[in-house]
Amino acid sequence: MSNGPAYSEILERNQRWVAERTAEDPAFFASRVKEHKPRYLWIGCSDARVPADMITQTDPGEIFVHRNIANQVVPTDANILAVLQYAIDVLKVEDVIVCGHSECGGVKAAVTGGAPAVVDNWLMQLRTVARLHDDELAGLPDDERVTRLVELNVREQVYNLSRTPVVQAAWARGQRLTLHGLVYRLDEGLLRDVGVTMDGTPAAAMAGAASGNGAAAPAPRPLAGARAG
Ligand SMILES: [Zn+2]
Repeated sequence: MSNGPAYSEILERNQRWVAERTAEDPAFFASRVKEHKPRYLWIGCSDARVPADMITQTDPGEIFVHRNIANQVVPTDANILAVLQYAIDVLKVEDVIVCGHSECGGVKAAVTGGAPAVVDNWLMQLRTVARLHDDELAGLPDDERVTRLVELNVREQVYNLSRTPVVQAAWARGQRLTLHGLVYRLDEGLLRDVGVTMDGTPAAAMAGAASGNGAAAPAPRPLAGARAG
């Protein structure tokens, strides 16, 4: 038996939500029509337990969202590249968040195998991340390996993001744009910053290299004090 209300109940809940929001603020919906200028782009996992707006308590209009299995930034994925370009070049978001989460089925499948063929193919890059960090991961029991790979994956995806042509071009023209990596804990509901914030400022230190990626890329650097919680 799957979780979730009956389909008809979804429509009823929608009507109740509209009534409640309108009671709080009669102009709420009219004000959404006027503009679409979200501050954030969220790149998260498709996992139903990690709803971007609910866990960040943001309103419609504040977060532009892209989700895929295991929150990956794959440089050949036309979908995410289009989302990135629209978010950064047109909407002018100021912050991009990559959010992974504990107990991620995609990360687990990359470690233990067993995903259906198409999903398994999508996890190819995640297995590369695992291989990059094999020395560290090999010594861990399965559950800890998943937990650690969730964080390493977020770090690598922020790094991948920093290397996309859209992000590089935004930084080159001086557009304000900061990249962040978060991990969400299902069992406690809390978000934690993994300390890979990049804002395109030229500096020697580079989060991707620090996480083991090793490439000598220009520009991105970690900001101090990014770890929270
Ligand atoms: Zn997941």
